[in-house]
Amino acid sequence: MRKSIRIAALILALILCAGLFTGCAKGRKVGPYRVEKNDIRNTEIYPYIVRTPHATWYLAQADIDLLGEETFYRELGEVLTEQEADFADAIDALRDYLTGDIPCIDIWMDFAGRTGNGKSDYFGAYCIWDMDLIYVYHDFQHAREGLLHEYVHYLTHKCCTFKLKTDFWSECIAEYISQFVCYNRLSHSTLTEEDREMYRQYGLTDANGEPDKRKVYYAWAAQARAGELIGMPYLAVNQTGMTLTEAQVRNPEIGALTYFEACCFFEWLVERYGRDFVFSHMAIGPERFEEVFGKDFNTLFSEWTADNDAWCAENLKLPEGAGD
Ligand SMILES: [Zn+2]
Repeated sequence: MRKSIRIAALILALILCAGLFTGCAKGRKVGPYRVEKNDIRNTEIYPYIVRTPHATWYLAQADIDLLGEETFYRELGEVLTEQEADFADAIDALRDYLTGDIPCIDIWMDFAGRTGNGKSDYFGAYCIWDMDLIYVYHDFQHAREGLLHEYVHYLTHKCCTFKLKTDFWSECIAEYISQFVCYNRLSHSTLTEEDREMYRQYGLTDANGEPDKRKVYYAWAAQARAGELIGMPYLAVNQTGMTLTEAQVRNPEIGALTYFEACCFFEWLVERYGRDFVFSHMAIGPERFEEVFGKDFNTLFSEWTADNDAWCAENLKLPEGAGD
């Protein structure tokens, strides 16, 4: 009898030990949230999930191994806190157009390159519109840069009353809401001290001396329009990697615009025609600009360029020593 009790105790101890080793991440606190065992889907690749009010993150074992457990969970905790606040801001910015409650989005991690989709450096995050999910690639730094933009794609394509067609409109509103309307804590936190100093020198800061994304975009867009960035590789709004050419500067093609130009031009349209009007006409091609806005795309784009140049001439500071 005594022997069988000892054996039972030994077996119990072994079970407890095994539990400690296999379930060590489960229940762990990450930021204000907890790691749970994934028993929803793809459980072999993603053994754990973390639920926040707006997203369910699927944690890949390969990514935890890649960064090391301590670093992985520390950085994830920081991202989750900022992500929640940023996602809430984006929902608020689009509140007048939402169809109802916003279902949680799935966020799948792929830092280790498992899916092969994150090869391009352009994508730190990628939203698949018809599947209600976002992938995050490379590392937390890249993820921070793209996450809110991708979440706005999800909101605008899946949860809003307006119709959205073409990459141009889709990228315009995603960039406008995520960079201009929302503060975007995630993206701001990627700026280095060097970036901040440069923006300060050029006067591209807000009242608190923090980089002002609007002003930064105006300055980049003006440079692109002036032909100062010819030869620069960039991702165009039509999702193609391109090199800026003289022809594109002279005769801008709507799909080949840089994100800076598209976002600033979109804001200019919103200010001139009103948010409701622009948001309810985001299913038109460039051939219908004249019918909808009273002027063709090229005329409107030239007018915006002139206004943006005037703003830059008045507000951009040249750092001391520049132009000597
Ligand atoms: Zn996008």
